[in-house]
Amino acid sequence: MRDASTKAVTILGATGSIGLNTLDVLFRHADRFHLYAITANTQVEKMAEICRTYRPEIAVMADTASAEQLKELLQNEKGISILGGSEALNEVASAESVDIVMAAIVGAVGLMPTLSAARAGKRILLANKEALVMAGHLFMTEVEQHNAELLPIDSEHNAIFQCLESGYQHELTRNGLNNKGPKSKGVTKILLTGSGGPFREYPLDKFDEITPEQAIAHPNWSMGPKISVDSATMMNKGLELIEACWLFNVQHEDVEIVLHKQSIIHSMVAYNDGSVLAQMGNPDMRTPIANALGWPERIASGVEPLDLFKVCQLNFEKADENRFPCLRLARQAIQQGGTSMAILNAANEVAVQAFLQSQITFTRIAELIELTMKHVAHQQTDSLQQILADDQAARKFVNHQLSVMSVEV
Ligand code: NDP
Repeated sequence: MRDASTKAVTILGATGSIGLNTLDVLFRHADRFHLYAITANTQVEKMAEICRTYRPEIAVMADTASAEQLKELLQNEKGISILGGSEALNEVASAESVDIVMAAIVGAVGLMPTLSAARAGKRILLANKEALVMAGHLFMTEVEQHNAELLPIDSEHNAIFQCLESGYQHELTRNGLNNKGPKSKGVTKILLTGSGGPFREYPLDKFDEITPEQAIAHPNWSMGPKISVDSATMMNKGLELIEACWLFNVQHEDVEIVLHKQSIIHSMVAYNDGSVLAQMGNPDMRTPIANALGWPERIASGVEPLDLFKVCQLNFEKADENRFPCLRLARQAIQQGGTSMAILNAANEVAVQAFLQSQITFTRIAELIELTMKHVAHQQTDSLQQILADDQAARKFVNHQLSVMSVEV
């Protein structure tokens, strides 16, 4: 029997990098939290191991055949219900007994369960940036209408959040776009930092030879394969720019991207009195996870204390959009508005997958996204139906380009 004084947590995407870090933080605080449900897609063995170690009440495999395999693997374990299929993701994200939902599924497929959590008024810890990129206005509106609470997990957005005044933090978590914006609190600029990934200084004429193995070897962060490639193309920073506009109710011109190769400062906020507040720490996702789980209290995360004498230097540079065209494409999508951001995101997801499967070169990722944005018309709406339709249209377009290319090869 669970202690009713502890908060019930669902982790969407428990087998991933964010999911595993969340489990690590949660179980340092068994007096505060208990695990209600965890979800994954196809990694059955990993899920079985997590179930045996952390004993959730419910385990969901989005892939139904994988759910059957998990049932077999856990047939001797009592007290864990196993469910399969995408509807079960929505159920465990919105169940009455859940207090907190960690949204850590990768990609657009995370949108529906995260929306379910918003509609059920949960505290949402948002790692799944793609959900906000593709449906930002709709998502923020649902959070406000259903009295949900939204806390950023992306280390940059969590850092920005921490650098805002505490009263304004409370407004932001509930009020979405319906507040006066950070300028009303003296904020003049948001400085969104990024390491620049593994190819910040790599010779441009060798970009075509970059392999998936090189691209996923991030110099500072250990992350899942999709976000690692996004970091290498800097589409990750582009998606984060869009995410920042929705989360903090700012225009893209109010956000400056700053390359900071050490990944010690996780972002900054500049104020009208000349102050610039920065949040610093070792690059370890357990810090933002603990911050969002415990907010407004601070709770321990297990992260090594920062040793400034070891760090010694902090460097800053401007981001080069010629080297990283994905940054330009993300700004273009924000300027176009409507479903453009869903189209950008969908094209990127398919192109990154193709790159990871060695079907296309590294530079082709941005080219395919640009081509898709030219050919798939966007609509000025935040209707969920249209967002999903344009997401599908973009995927179809890129897949068609890929099939044409494979015939040409
Ligand atoms: P991973 O690839 O490590 O994990 C992804 C998770 O999503 C896995 O649990 C996976 O299940 C699940 N999943 C994948 N496809 C589906 C599907 N079709 N249906 C249901 N579940 C699915 O990703 P990360 O943990 O790196 O990233 C997760 C999200 O967090 C991304 O949106 C990323 O941008 C964001 N993020 C990540 C950071 C990091 O440090 N990793 C930092 C900031 C943000 P299975 O294992 O069974 O495939």
